[in-house]
Amino acid sequence: MRSGFAKKRVYFFGNAKAEGSGKMKDILGGKGAGLSEMTNLGIPVPPGFIISTEVCTLYNQLGKKFTDEIIKEVEKNLHSLEEAVGKKFGDKDDPLLVSIRSGARVSMPGMMDTVLNVGLNDASVEGLGKKTNNMRFAYDSYRRFISMYSNVVLEIPYEQFEDILEQKKRSLGVRFDTDLSENDLKDLAELYKETVQSIKGASFPLNPMDQLWEGIKAVFNSWYGQRAATYRRINKIPDGWGTAVNVVSMVFGNMGDNSATGVVFTRNPATGEGTLYGEFLPNAQGEDVVAGIRTPRPIVRQQNTDGIGMTLEEKMPHVFEELQKVAKTLESRNKDMQDIEFTIERNTLWILQTRSGKRTASSAIKIAVDMVSEGLISKEDAIMRVSPEQLNQILHPVIDPNAEKTLIAKGLPASPGAVSGSIVLSANDAVKMAKEGHKVILVRIETSPEDIHGMHVAEGVLTSRGGMTSHAAVVARGMGRCCVVGCSQIKISYERKTIEAYDTALVFKEGDVITLDGTTGEVFKGVVPTIDAAMNEDFATFMKWVDEVRRLRVMVNADTPDDCKIAMRFGAEGVGLCRTEHMFFAPGRINAVREMILAKDKEGRRRPLNKIKPMQKADFIGIFKEMGGLPVVIRLLDPPLHEFLPKTSEDVESLAKTTGVDVDVVRYQSDKMHEFNPMLGHRGCRLGITMPEIYEMQTEAIIEAACELKKTQGKNVNPEIMVPLVGSIEELTFVKVCIDKVAKDVMERQSTSVNYKVGTMIELPRACLIADDIAKEAEFFSFGTNDLTQMTFGFSRDDVGIFLAMYLEKKILKADPFQTIDIPGVGRLIEMAVIRGKQARPDIKVGICGEHGGDPSSVHFCHSVGLDYVSCSPFRVPIAKLAAAQAVLEEKSTA
Ligand code: ADP
Ligand code: MG
Ligand code: MG
Repeated sequence: MRSGFAKKRVYFFGNAKAEGSGKMKDILGGKGAGLSEMTNLGIPVPPGFIISTEVCTLYNQLGKKFTDEIIKEVEKNLHSLEEAVGKKFGDKDDPLLVSIRSGARVSMPGMMDTVLNVGLNDASVEGLGKKTNNMRFAYDSYRRFISMYSNVVLEIPYEQFEDILEQKKRSLGVRFDTDLSENDLKDLAELYKETVQSIKGASFPLNPMDQLWEGIKAVFNSWYGQRAATYRRINKIPDGWGTAVNVVSMVFGNMGDNSATGVVFTRNPATGEGTLYGEFLPNAQGEDVVAGIRTPRPIVRQQNTDGIGMTLEEKMPHVFEELQKVAKTLESRNKDMQDIEFTIERNTLWILQTRSGKRTASSAIKIAVDMVSEGLISKEDAIMRVSPEQLNQILHPVIDPNAEKTLIAKGLPASPGAVSGSIVLSANDAVKMAKEGHKVILVRIETSPEDIHGMHVAEGVLTSRGGMTSHAAVVARGMGRCCVVGCSQIKISYERKTIEAYDTALVFKEGDVITLDGTTGEVFKGVVPTIDAAMNEDFATFMKWVDEVRRLRVMVNADTPDDCKIAMRFGAEGVGLCRTEHMFFAPGRINAVREMILAKDKEGRRRPLNKIKPMQKADFIGIFKEMGGLPVVIRLLDPPLHEFLPKTSEDVESLAKTTGVDVDVVRYQSDKMHEFNPMLGHRGCRLGITMPEIYEMQTEAIIEAACELKKTQGKNVNPEIMVPLVGSIEELTFVKVCIDKVAKDVMERQSTSVNYKVGTMIELPRACLIADDIAKEAEFFSFGTNDLTQMTFGFSRDDVGIFLAMYLEKKILKADPFQTIDIPGVGRLIEMAVIRGKQARPDIKVGICGEHGGDPSSVHFCHSVGLDYVSCSPFRVPIAKLAAAQAVLEEKSTA
C-alpha cells in the first residue's frame, strides 16, 4: 500500500449514519457492528466511534502502545463526537461523557469490562449537576465512575468500593442505592478517591484525556488477561481475533424515576415463546440490572412475577411500544432472536447493544422451528441455528414428579435440567472436588467471570441474587448448565460455609447434597430421583429436518438391552459398538470369568465358558430384539485379562471357594498374569489367538442368538462380528477362520442360516498402514479412536491427565485429543486407512466408535473423510445427528 493512504482504524457512528456496517464484525467486533447497523437503521443509538480489532493486535505487538496515526485518528473522532452531541469532552460546565466498552467478534458475556461516565472530575461533576438541574444524579454518576474506573483500569478489587457503599447504607439505615441523597453520594465519591489514594499511593486521575486513553488500554489489556483467555480456551475462540473498543456518548438511566436501564430478549430465551422477555430497573445505570443490586422488574407480565412491581409495559407504555418496534426491526433484520440492552433517559429510549441472544436448547429449537413457519428462515438455517453440544440439555432428565422431596427454597428458573450434587461455595473448591470425582453444585451469592471455571465443572449453579439475565443465568444457559438464580430465600455465608433457608429453617453445610430443578427454580434437600426428558413435537420436527439432510448414519455404543432401549428413543440407527466385556463383569458371572482366565488349559477353560455362554446368548437376544433388525456390531472380548483378576483378598477367597482351588494357588496364578503395560499387552485379538475358546464361545452365542430369533420369530438379524486390536493380517486371518468355522457349525446344527459379517476395529497405527491388506479379509472397519489416539500419540489414556492440562495451557495441544480427533495425526491415519481399505474392497463399510463419535467437530471430520457412520453413547445420538447434518450444509456453503 502507498503511504499517504493510511488504513482506516476508527469508525464513527451518529446522526443516523455509520461508517461501518453490521457485516463488519471481524473489524468492529459484534457490539460495534451492531451499533453501526442500528444507527444506519435509524434506531436511536447514542453516537460514538469504534477503534477496530486490528488496533488491539497492533497495540500488543508494539508492546502495549499506540502509533501516532492511531492517536490522531481517535482524537479526530472524538471531535466529531463532540460536534454530534454538542458538548465538549472535559468541559467543566457541560461535559461530554462517554463509555468505554469492549466488544469482540463473538459476544463474551461479562468477560470484558466497561467503564461508564468517563470524563467526569471534581469540576465537571458540578457542571453536569447544574446543567441537568440534578446534582444527585451528577454525584451518583461520579461515584459510579470512580469505582468502575478504579476497578477496571486501576485494578482495585470492586469489593473495596462495595464495602464502603454497604457501610454508608448501613450507617444511614437505608436499603438501596436509590435511597442515598446528593450529599451521601458526594461523600462516597470522596471516600472512593481516598481509597484509591491509599491503595495506589497516587491520586485518582482527574484529567479526562488520561481517563480516556487509560480506559482504552484497559479494554485491550483485558483481551490479554487471564479471564478472557480462559473463556476463549473453553469456547475455542482464537487469541488473534482481538477486541474492538467502543467509545460511546453517555445516556443516563439514573436521572430519576422516569429513567431506567434494562435488557430485553425478543423471544423468551428459556421457552422460546414469541413475546418480549426481559427486565429493567428504574433509576439505575449500566449493569445494575444484571448485578442483582435490586430485584429488577419484568418488561411484560409473566407467570410467577406477580407482586414484583409495575412492568415496563404498565409503567411507560410509550417507551414500551417503541421498544417493541425496535425489537421487531432488529429481529427481522438479523433473522434471529436478539438480546437488546437499553437505557431510558427521561422517557427517551436509547439502544446500547443488540446481539443474538443465548438460549436454552429447547428454546433454540422452538425459535428455529417457529421462524421457519414464520418464513423468516429456511429449514437449513434452522438446522444451523442449534448447536449440537447444546442439545445435551433437553436430552437430560427432569425431576420425577412423583418423587418424594423436601423443598428448601425457590428461586428463578434460569437454565433447565435437574441435577444433584454436593454444595461448594467457591469456584476453586468446585474444581478441586470435581477433580476428585464428586458431583458439585456451585452455590454463590452471585457469580462473576472469576467463577467461570467453577461453573464449568459444576453440575449446576445456584445463586441467591440476580435475575434471569444475571451473569450466572446467562453463562449457565450458554454452557447448558442447570441453574437457579435469585434464590433470595437462602442466606449464604462464605465464612461459616453454610447456606440457610429462611422460610424452611433448614441449614446446610458445604458438602451436603442438594438437588436443583432449573425448570422450576426449586431447590431440594438431598438427591431427588429424575426421569427422562420428554422430547416434544418441535424437537421431533427439527430432528426430521436433520435426518433429511445428513449423510452419516448414527449408531450407538450400547452393551445392554436397556442401553439399546434408550438409544432407540434417541433415534439410533443400529449398534456400532457392543462391548462384550461389560457382560463379563456382571456380578453373577465374574467368578466364572476368573475361573476361565486362571485355568491351566483348554479343558479347564471350557467348563466356565459353558457357564457364561447361555448368559451371553441371552444378552444378544435381548439386544437384537431391541434393535429390531438394525445392524449390530459386536466386539469380541478386548480388555487386558488382568482387569478381570481378583483384586481384594475377599475376591480371591470367593473364587477359591467356587472353584475348589486352594487360595494360595489362586493368588499365585493371578500374580503370574501381572503385566507391566497391560494396555499394550495380552488383550484384543491376542486373547482370541492364545485362547481361541473365548472367541469360539462368543461366536457361538452370537450366531445361536441370531438363528434362534430367525427360527422362533422370523426375524432377520445380521450380526457384525468385530475383532479388536488387529495389527497384522495374519492375526485377522487366524481369528476369522475360527469364527467362520464355528458359525458354520452352529448354522448346520440349527439348520438355518444368518448373514453375518466379520470385520475389525482399526485402532493400531500399523493397521492403518496395512489397511488395504486387512480389507481383503475384513468386511468392515470401525475406527476405535480411543485406542488409536493412545497408540498414535503414545499417550496412556488412563494417565494422560497428569500432563494434559499443562499441554493445553502451554498450547502444545490445541484440544484434548481424546475428546476431539487430532486431525493432522490420528485423522490422517484414518483418512489413509479409508482410502486404502476402499481400494481393496470398494464396498467396505467404514465407521468410527469411541468417544469421538459423539463429538461435533470429530463428526464433521468423519463426514469429510467419507465414513459411513459414527457410533456414540445413547445420549449423544441426536447431537451426532445434528453435527452430521451441519457438516453437509457447511460443505454445501463452502463448495
Ligand atoms: P458488556 O459487554 O458486558 O455487555 P457493555 O459495553 O454493553 O458491556 O456495557 C454494559 C452496560 O453499560 C450496557 O448494557 C449499558 O447499560 C451500559 N452502557 C454502556 N455504554 C453506555 C452509554 N454510552 N450510555 C449509557 N449506558 C451505557
Ligand atoms: Mg458486562
Ligand atoms: Mg452489553
